Amino acid sequence: MKTLNDFNFNNKKALIRVDFNVPLNDKFEVTDATRIVSAKPTIIKILEDGGSCILMSHLGRPKGVQEEFSLKHIVNKVEDILGVEVKFIEDCVGPTAEEAAQNLNPGEILLLENLRFHDEEKQGDKNFAEALSKLGDIFVNDAFGTAHRAHASTTIIAQFFDQRKCFGNLLAQEIDSINKVMKTGEKPVLAVLGGAKVSSKITIIENILDKVDHLIIGGGMTFTFIKAQGGNVGDSICEDDKMELAIDILKQAKEKNVQIHLPVDVLAANAFSNDADTQIMDVDKIPQGWQGLDAGPRSKAHFHDVVLQCKTILWNGPLGVFEMETFANGTIALGNSIAEATKNGAFSLVGGGDSVAAVKQFGFENKVSYVSTGGGAMLESLEGKTLPGIAAILE
Ligand code: AMP
Repeated sequence: MKTLNDFNFNNKKALIRVDFNVPLNDKFEVTDATRIVSAKPTIIKILEDGGSCILMSHLGRPKGVQEEFSLKHIVNKVEDILGVEVKFIEDCVGPTAEEAAQNLNPGEILLLENLRFHDEEKQGDKNFAEALSKLGDIFVNDAFGTAHRAHASTTIIAQFFDQRKCFGNLLAQEIDSINKVMKTGEKPVLAVLGGAKVSSKITIIENILDKVDHLIIGGGMTFTFIKAQGGNVGDSICEDDKMELAIDILKQAKEKNVQIHLPVDVLAANAFSNDADTQIMDVDKIPQGWQGLDAGPRSKAHFHDVVLQCKTILWNGPLGVFEMETFANGTIALGNSIAEATKNGAFSLVGGGDSVAAVKQFGFENKVSYVSTGGGAMLESLEGKTLPGIAAILE
């Protein structure tokens, strides 16, 4: 696996695919700069080597050229974060872009206009990828958030760089973290899968059963498993058509020596509302008119014990409807348990969708080992898929 350390960037122009797809408010100000901050180590390392950086990214989902999706809006923010002047060019291919790249001196940064102003980007067009490739000497992919897309700038472009291509620091860190969980992690390995539906996590569960010693299943998925085993789940979210699959997953887990931990009690409510009446109930004795919306106290205590036994922990999906304060405690308790295990030396990775939002919202970001920056890319990695953007660098 080639990384930045395999190259000396002195006098080289690094063409870097970053993920600067950041949220903007109605004044076109960046409201969350995490993705820019995450790309900083790669950019600084190349500049310190004596190289220059040509940054390319997409922003949003423009239809052709649409000014509101221009990357010019983020230039000041990128400059603030990097502490270096950033030149901006109003296209990403063609004579103007080539001239700007040519004139770039060591230590300088050039930001190209939104790649998706050209439809060819998403189409993975080879000619467009070749046009982009003319801008730099070495291709660096540091965009995990788009690594699951076979787009021109994320995947196709790599073929024009022969061996002159590598992962940036961020992407290398993401790959390392996933490998720790899926391949090299110290045992016992635990995965915590929460969230709303079994149907969206089936492939992940099936793939992960071969890698883990313990699997905690929480959140809305719980009830399909409980009902499938004959429990009463009242009005809790439940996918009746996935009950057979749930039984099959339990059987597979047994065969593979994976211990499955489901909640034993829940905080149930008489409505899907923060102000509903609530009651602690056994997970398999929820009457009609009530629904389980968070883990109960015995479940939290049991999950805590499991988490603290484990040396490698993956967390994907909340244990309850954490967006409502009344039902956030199970997710917060799990975050605390994982933080404690991490402090004791466990490796913990949080990734994929809502768990990242929960971790940020409740302040666990710096208390776990790694928070993934890619939603869809992370989910596909957990499903065991090889991401095209990663494969293209390895080829
Ligand atoms: P996912 O995107 O699959 O990770 O699902 C995340 C969503 O699951 C969040 O919006 C949670 O509110 C929701 N969720 C978690 N637990 C429950 C539950 N017991 N009932 C309904 N929704 C839930």
